[in-house]
Amino acid sequence: MAPPEPKFRRVLLKLSGEALMGDLEYGTDAEQVVRIAEQIRATRSRGVEVAVVVGAGNIYRGLQAAAEGMDRATGDYMGMLATVLNALTLQDALEKLGEHTRVQSAIDVKEVAEPYIRRRAMRHLEKGRIVIFAAGTGNPFFTTDTAAALRALEIHADAILMAKNRVEGVYDADPASNPDARFIPEISHREAIEQGLRVMDSTALSLCMDNDLPIYVFNMADERNIDRIVSGERVGTLVSNGPAS
Ligand code: UDP
Repeated sequence: MAPPEPKFRRVLLKLSGEALMGDLEYGTDAEQVVRIAEQIRATRSRGVEVAVVVGAGNIYRGLQAAAEGMDRATGDYMGMLATVLNALTLQDALEKLGEHTRVQSAIDVKEVAEPYIRRRAMRHLEKGRIVIFAAGTGNPFFTTDTAAALRALEIHADAILMAKNRVEGVYDADPASNPDARFIPEISHREAIEQGLRVMDSTALSLCMDNDLPIYVFNMADERNIDRIVSGERVGTLVSNGPAS
């Protein structure tokens, strides 16, 4: 049986640094990156345009560096540079699978990536290229979650696919520390913000709420999940402004 028509025309996949870490404590698990690249290729091959925002928590976090005494903005710029490393890692894995890709960076690193140019990014996507957005928003004091929300809105993505490591979606408490944490299959942006749930940070979540952008939060460990979401199956947690999205 042929797979169903994809539910989306264009999606933005948010990959945290941790998603690239697999079971490691730090850094990048090469096999995990290949698995992710294969899932992106499969989505692409169904005719869905895919843009990706990568984080850097597997390498560096500005906030942590600031806690250790570094100037926050300096730490954040270092975090943004770390996302460029992850973007190039993912680009390499996708190209080994024969995919056409472009990395666009919010910080100028022109020897290795294009600058972020919105219309050019959209053109790449129309041509079937996978666009990886690096260096977050280009501004300190923000996160790659906010970059994901911002870029998704800019390129008119139909949804954000928010990959999580080792959890199925959103819970009412942290399932890692609280065995009674309850899984939430569906919730509105507003409720998620009010309840302080860890979907993404609050700046990013408000941006999605104000602009009616649905977020599908799912477990990256299950390799069928992206394909299922694209097929319209209910997987993980859907954060949206209502049944219409
Ligand atoms: N960062 C930033 N501005 C941005 C995006 C990221 O300053 O627009 C910095 C920030 O220091 C952050 C680091 O880059 O800690 C890595 O990004 P993030 O923590 O969002 O990665 P993830 O949690 O998704 O792995």
